[in-house]
Amino acid sequence: MGAVMDTRRWIERFAELVAADADRLTGLDAAIGDADHGANLNRGLRAAVEAVGPDLPPGKVLMAAGRALVSKTGGASGPLYGGALRRAGKALGDAADADAAALAGALRAALDAVQELGKAVEGDKTMVDALAPAVAAYAAAAGDGPAIAAQAALDAAEKGAEATVPLQARKGRASYLGPRSVGHLDPGAASTVLLFRALADAAG
Ligand code: ADP
Ligand code: MG
Ligand code: MG
Repeated sequence: MGAVMDTRRWIERFAELVAADADRLTGLDAAIGDADHGANLNRGLRAAVEAVGPDLPPGKVLMAAGRALVSKTGGASGPLYGGALRRAGKALGDAADADAAALAGALRAALDAVQELGKAVEGDKTMVDALAPAVAAYAAAAGDGPAIAAQAALDAAEKGAEATVPLQARKGRASYLGPRSVGHLDPGAASTVLLFRALADAAG
C-alpha cells in the first residue's frame, strides 16, 4: 500500500500559511480587486480548521472544511475554494486512507468544481491558472507517492501563478479593470500556491 495523506494536516497548514500571508494576498487584491482576498480566506480557513475534528476520515475532513469555507469566507473565492474541497472530499468518500492515486482523483474533482462554478478556463487570470497545472502535475507524479507528487504540484502551481502576471483578467472583479489588470499577480492564483505548499508540507 502506498503512503497516505493526512488531509486534516493539509487544511491546518493551509490555514497557517494563509494567516501568515494574509496581508500579502490582500495587497495583491488591492491592485486589481477590492483588497479583501487575504482577509476573506483567513476568516474562512479559521472556520474550516474548527470544523475539522480529529478522527474523521480524509474525505469527511475535506467536506467539513469545504462547507465551512462556503459559509464563512465571503467573496468569489469562498464558494470556489469551498466547492473545490467539498467535491474533493466527496471523491475520497468514506475510505479510511487516501493515497496519492486517490488524492489525484480528488484534486481533479476539485478543479472540475471550480470550473463548473466559476466558468473560468486557463488564461483567464484566476486561481484556475495555478490549480489546473498543479492538478495535472500531481496526477503525473502520483505513482511516485504523495510527497513527490505534491512537490511537483507546488512547482507547477508557482509557475502557473507567475504566468498570470502578463495576462488580462477575463473573470472576477479584476476583469472590470480590462487592460489595467495586466502586470499584476492574480490573488487567487497566489493563494492556490499556498494550498499546494500546504499539501507538500503535509505530505513530507
Ligand atoms: P472577491 O473578488 O469577491 O472579492 P476574493 O478577493 O476573495 O473575492 O477572490 C478573488 C479571486 O477569486 C481572484 O483573484 C480569482 O483568482 C478568483 N476568482 C474570481 N472569479 C473567479 C472565477 N469566475 N473563476 C475562478 N476563479 C475566480
Ligand atoms: Mg476581493
Ligand atoms: Mg470582495
